[in-house]
Amino acid sequence: MPKKYDLKTDIAIIGAGPAGVSTALFLAKEGMPHILFDKARFPRDKVCGDGLSGKTIGLFNELNPVLVEQMSAAPERFLPSWGVTFIAPNGKGIELPFKKDMRDLKHAPGFTSRRVDFDDFFLKQIDPRFTNFQHETEILQVEQRSGGVTLKLKKQGKLLNCFAKVVVGAGGTASLTARKLARQKIQSQHLFAGLRMYYENVSEMHPQNFIELHFIPEALPGYLWIFPLPNNRANVGIGVLRKDIKNKNIHLKTLFQKALKTNPALARRFKNARPVSSIDGWRLPLGSVKRALSGERFLLTGDAAALIDPFTGEGIGNAILSGKFAANVLKKAVENNDFSAAALKQYDRLLYDDLWSELQISYNIQRLVRLPWLFNFVINRVHNNSRLQETFSSMFNDVDMRARLRSPSFYFRLLFNLKGGARDDKLSK
Ligand SMILES: Cc1cc2nc3c(=O)[nH]c(=O)nc-3n(C[C@H](O)[C@H](O)[C@H](O)COP(=O)(O)OP(=O)(O)OC[C@H]3O[C@@H](n4cnc5c(N)ncnc54)[C@H](O)[C@@H]3O)c2cc1C
Repeated sequence: MPKKYDLKTDIAIIGAGPAGVSTALFLAKEGMPHILFDKARFPRDKVCGDGLSGKTIGLFNELNPVLVEQMSAAPERFLPSWGVTFIAPNGKGIELPFKKDMRDLKHAPGFTSRRVDFDDFFLKQIDPRFTNFQHETEILQVEQRSGGVTLKLKKQGKLLNCFAKVVVGAGGTASLTARKLARQKIQSQHLFAGLRMYYENVSEMHPQNFIELHFIPEALPGYLWIFPLPNNRANVGIGVLRKDIKNKNIHLKTLFQKALKTNPALARRFKNARPVSSIDGWRLPLGSVKRALSGERFLLTGDAAALIDPFTGEGIGNAILSGKFAANVLKKAVENNDFSAAALKQYDRLLYDDLWSELQISYNIQRLVRLPWLFNFVINRVHNNSRLQETFSSMFNDVDMRARLRSPSFYFRLLFNLKGGARDDKLSK
């Protein structure tokens, strides 16, 4: 090692959002020490829809089943959610429970929680025996050196440096590691722009806290969402494709506010609602294109690796999943003292083997959703057919079922009410 460093570690993780904390927790499970950096002071906010899907809950159960029990026992921070309501461009809605039979479930299949609460809860799970957490520490520079990576950091006004054998870029959309080491560029066709505002007292919320996706025509293939939160609050927001902002000359804030005032289904529900926050926006890097997720002495996780579902906009579950695979590959890299691009490439393989078909299906659905007439037609049909409602419900939990949506024969069968439009038939691929 060429010079004196303030900190030295095998593994440095930059960012303590869901991706970074997941990496830290899975590494700790393997007894692997590391340093976790975040520039923020926690609890800190993050612009998001605040929806926690079944994938997140499943991964929590893998980490430690006690986590979901703790969430269920804290209704002031975690609201259990039992389903989703889709509202088609023509205003017609369908309500889909997340699971067909929920009587025997120990807890809800999904939750909503403000990120200021959720991220703090998740961070509190780190194990200090293995995780050296450096809060309020911003990484200013990351550089490859022979034998390692050097980080220049700022902690409480002081400039320090750190030497790591490998670095995990978990800094979200603006990740320094993604820009400097992976040399990734913004691709506006694979990016959503979103904004959200917290409201109090939105009326006609679902009694089982279903999350709502309103596919208003102006936002397609994006949507406006209303996600219920504890204490009679709701996270209300909108997301559109970034390239549409330019091509269709969309002013997102205006579109959002106009929809809440003039859309007949929404205006009545916001009549007595009160905003309780500013409107804040951020980017959603979509996993609709494959990228290099690793290289010589670095891995990218979560939004830094652009893993957000291109249809639903969910990124928390995939961020946590990527942390799990990153920890798996890092353990072997440390054991073999091999941090080469070739050795770390195993991470790309493991993650995309698990995730790529799901991301592709969602991307195909995103493209279909651009056609309002098709969307209206599907929702109309599902609205009137309980078997189809089951099919659609299971699509949230079953990727094979979701695959049906991209098959032209599915729509043909739907049109003529043939077998194959509902759950008990074989998949039509
Ligand atoms: C409008 C909107 C709505 C969304 N809705 C949902 C939803 O309902 N459900 C869902 O699952 N997903 C949703 N997402 C996506 C979700 O927010 C992200 O996928 C998720 O936060 C990714 O986690 P992450 O850990 O990769 O990054 P982040 O959560 O962004 O965390 C990154 C962390 O890195 C730290 N950091 C960054 N740079 C540095 C640095 N140089 N030095 C030190 N620390 C640094 C930051 O302080 C931050 O704490 C939404 C996103 C947006 C924008």
